[in-house]
Amino acid sequence: MTQAFLEHIRDTLEQIEVDGLYKRERLIAGAQGARVNVRQNGHERSMINLCANNYLGLADHPDIKRSARDAIDEFGFGMASVRFICGAQTLHRELEHTIARYLGKDDAILFAACFDANGGVFETLLGPEDAVISDSLNHASIIDGVRLCKAKRYRFANSDMDGLEDQLKQAQADGARFKLVVTDGVFSMDGYVANLPDICALADKYGAMVLVDDCHATGHLGPEGRGTPALTGVGQAVDIVTGTFGKTLGGGMGGFIAAAQPVIDLLRQRARPYLFSNSLAPTVAAGSLKAIAIAEQADDLRERLQNHTRRFRDSLGEAGFELLPGETPIIPVMTHEAPLAQRLAAALDERGVYVAGFFFPVVPKGKARIRTQMSAALSEQDVDDAIAAFIDAGRATGLI
Ligand SMILES: *Cc1c(COP(=O)(O)O)cnc(C)c1O
Repeated sequence: MTQAFLEHIRDTLEQIEVDGLYKRERLIAGAQGARVNVRQNGHERSMINLCANNYLGLADHPDIKRSARDAIDEFGFGMASVRFICGAQTLHRELEHTIARYLGKDDAILFAACFDANGGVFETLLGPEDAVISDSLNHASIIDGVRLCKAKRYRFANSDMDGLEDQLKQAQADGARFKLVVTDGVFSMDGYVANLPDICALADKYGAMVLVDDCHATGHLGPEGRGTPALTGVGQAVDIVTGTFGKTLGGGMGGFIAAAQPVIDLLRQRARPYLFSNSLAPTVAAGSLKAIAIAEQADDLRERLQNHTRRFRDSLGEAGFELLPGETPIIPVMTHEAPLAQRLAAALDERGVYVAGFFFPVVPKGKARIRTQMSAALSEQDVDDAIAAFIDAGRATGLI
């Protein structure tokens, strides 16, 4: 490697630092849970965790861990193969059938991550004659997946239904053969649910299909945790669902696409991240299977999650914090200015609360925030302690 190249890379890193965008990873010494042992400067501290996607608290669930351990004995540690060569176990098919049934679709196909599912879905299903119409706040993996496909791209401002209709009209005027509207089910930086009833109605009006990426919903939102289509009552009007096992459903890893049989069949033939990447590890497949079984029955955990959400929202709102409105367990606490978000995060850290600040370019300039996420793993005492810490830190930093 030449000095010139390394110099160039160092300059880039320095610029990231100067811009205040350098991300430093904090280390957890132990399992993901309501409290985590955070290792800092050689010593460990137990902190209340408000920044995991561990909505139902399944990431350290004893039954899921047991399923994963049992799977090692029965199915081994690794597959050492892509699915179509010799990497498909009965376990993988069972997981596909189970997630498909859970979401009310014919079939499903597994990927190493939802990032890969979104990376493979558009290129496989759409050609240059087609149109993909995408919400401007969609996840990075959708943006990249759309870039990889040859369909004509249309974009509408976040949740702007007039904008969506304009783009559908434009796609129609441009002579699109097939049109696919794409949205996140939950916009994870802001914590609100996509307007699926209007999206589906507009799609229907213009003969378009709908794809929902439900990563921040499957397992904890809607009846039995069936996600935003079930929550918003649109059900089968959503044609394709992409999602993850890396959040609510055990938080291990792995993505999936659920849809009509021919769609899944074609993805199995053509989706590149599926064809050219290793199978999910048996531990992960077995743990995810158990997670779906638990999530389906977990009305108690969903209620607990909702109670925590209400408690945290109400208390912080009353204390004078500015929160973004919404009904999901994602509760963004707005600071607007990035340095204030950093100071608040540091003050919360001192008070034993583990949070993450978000600023430009992850969110727009002037919209810096601390994004908090509730979990059913938290006790009421944890939530109350976190509220007290927020109020104290808010006063110490002059935010409230
Ligand atoms: C987390 C997330 C992904 C990525 O999921 P992985 O399985 O971790 O790759 C994709 N889309 C959305 C909306 C997400 O929130």
